[in-house]
Amino acid sequence: MTAFMVPRTEGVETKYIYGLMGVRGGGAGRLVLKDVRVPERYALNGINGGFDVFVRMMIPERLGTAAMTLGSVRPAIEIATRYTSRRKAFGLPIQSFQAVGFKVADSVMLLDAARSMVYSTCLAVDSRRAHPNRVRRLVSETKKFVTEAAWTIANNCMQVVGGIGYTNVYPLERIVRDIRLSMIWVGTNEIMQLIVQNEWYKEYLKVISKEDVRDVEADAPSADAEEEKVYE
Ligand SMILES: Cc1cc2nc3c(=O)[nH]c(=O)nc-3n(C[C@H](O)[C@H](O)[C@H](O)COP(=O)(O)OP(=O)(O)OC[C@H]3O[C@@H](n4cnc5c(N)ncnc54)[C@H](O)[C@@H]3O)c2cc1C
Repeated sequence: MTAFMVPRTEGVETKYIYGLMGVRGGGAGRLVLKDVRVPERYALNGINGGFDVFVRMMIPERLGTAAMTLGSVRPAIEIATRYTSRRKAFGLPIQSFQAVGFKVADSVMLLDAARSMVYSTCLAVDSRRAHPNRVRRLVSETKKFVTEAAWTIANNCMQVVGGIGYTNVYPLERIVRDIRLSMIWVGTNEIMQLIVQNEWYKEYLKVISKEDVRDVEADAPSADAEEEKVYE
């Protein structure tokens, strides 16, 4: 929990001491709870109902992280595009070398894909028609995909700007440092993967596979070779 968010409460001690690699407008510290008594009327969602509040809160936390990461990384593409169209080697702007231009192209593609994913997941959440478990999967997928795409983009952009990209002459080094946090906080990307795995298997095996849909396994020419389908 960031230290400035901690309310003044008896028994709650914060030690605001840690330097951060990036996102230096924020901070992180250790929060110590010792003999803290909270009146029952302040319990969110009643006693033992906190988990539901947590699950609901993780939607804006994780989707918000995905959305803000798009904005954090977009300037890296602009810087890389400008630099590679001006910087010359062998008399040509380096954008004309495919090893360079392709990295920028891939970055633009990833940003567009990531942006689309954020929008479509936001639509699913806002519609209130998607099942909460599916929302949980979509939000987790989006947080993981977008933050990892942003990390690839930030590194691609630094790479094509070369040595000067690693200095503070351009803000690329700050963007790389800032983006790194997005794969860790509000639940690490490994935890996002765990949620996606759990929710997908549950949804497929308990819901989708029970629906009256075409059996896609039957598309194979030897689909009737049942003796070859060995599962144990
Ligand atoms: C700058 C900053 C600001 C933060 N702000 C907030 C905030 O405002 N509010 C808040 O609540 N938290 C905040 N956090 C905390 C952040 O959300 C956690 O650090 C993060 O969720 C990871 O938890 P952890 O540090 O306990 O890692 P650990 O749980 O110690 O995990 C260590 C590693 O093990 C992996 N791991 C752990 N369990 C599993 C598992 N079951 N399967 C697979 N892999 C696993 C993790 O993915 C990770 O790679 C902040 C952290 C930072 C650095």
